[in-house]
Amino acid sequence: MRATAALLEDYLRPFALETVDLADPAPGQLVVRTTAAPFCSTDWMGWRAMRRKVPPVILGHTAIGEVVATGDAVTHVGPGDRVLVAATPRCGTCFYCAEGRPDQCTLLMEEPDPVVGATRDGREVRAAGRVGGYASHLLVDGVQVHPLPPALPDTTAALLGCGISTMLGAVFTIAEVRAGQSVAIVGLGHLGQWAAQAARLAGAGAVIGIDAHPARRELATASGATHLVDPARVDPVDEVRRLTAGRGADVVIEAAGPALAARQAVLMCRRAGTVVLSGVDHAATELTLPQLALTVHGKRILGCQNGQVDPVADFPRWIGMLERGELDPGPVVSGTYALGEIDVVMRRSMALEDVTGVFTEF
Ligand SMILES: [Zn+2]
Ligand SMILES: [Zn+2]
Repeated sequence: MRATAALLEDYLRPFALETVDLADPAPGQLVVRTTAAPFCSTDWMGWRAMRRKVPPVILGHTAIGEVVATGDAVTHVGPGDRVLVAATPRCGTCFYCAEGRPDQCTLLMEEPDPVVGATRDGREVRAAGRVGGYASHLLVDGVQVHPLPPALPDTTAALLGCGISTMLGAVFTIAEVRAGQSVAIVGLGHLGQWAAQAARLAGAGAVIGIDAHPARRELATASGATHLVDPARVDPVDEVRRLTAGRGADVVIEAAGPALAARQAVLMCRRAGTVVLSGVDHAATELTLPQLALTVHGKRILGCQNGQVDPVADFPRWIGMLERGELDPGPVVSGTYALGEIDVVMRRSMALEDVTGVFTEF
């Protein structure tokens, strides 16, 4: 089968829409015709060689679509089914899946991204997160594919695999936010908007959104932030302490990426509070943190890969919340685009003009 893909042939060069050849699905694999895929800010980092991406590669680590072909031994979905394709698999057999941590599944953590079965002029093409969502058709493993209900809009359902699962997991699974707690959110991009919504649903008291971008602060009000902080005007650590009786927030969700944001997140957390670090920057970024915050002050600093998602258990829960209207994609979806507009969409993401642009035409 042939697919049209936005191929990253080399760093810092415009994307090219190319035809790639997909192998027939092997046992356990299937082919999905893509109907929507969100552009993720991590992908302009890939384009700028800040992540460990090896061209030629199709970026995009989640998508939704319709199953068009299945290999042997695929039984949970079939042709015609509407599905979510997520980067985090649950292979079920690796050390991490056996440990109950499919978010660290060895299939996903392979570096560089694997070749799943796509070629261009005979050259093997890698697929980001084993998905490569910026393409008309995806050859993927069945363990990354989950049924979707028919009524959920494409632009909403497409957000499940990245922002929704990452931040609902950060709030409910990793930080385990309790009713009445104060939650500070560093960075109000797509992750921060979902974090605010999840904190509100968890019954948080103060939900403090921190971002230098005025439009993003405004969107965070719709997402449930009760207080907004502009770090270009005030010291965000001092301001969060001021808003929390001088202690610091009970829970801090870092959703920005730069090392400074992670450091501020740790500093604005109260003693014995919880910090969840979810943002990523250049793959070589290192953090410097005050020793006392981690030792004497007893802060818990927890990592977050895709919200520590267990795809089989969690996606149906997050889908139910979307179906009941408990989550609002409004502040997150900035516009819809054709795949051929990917260079424009990437520049809008880099310039912070879009929170998320969603490809809906392939
Ligand atoms: Zn993403
Ligand atoms: Zn596994």
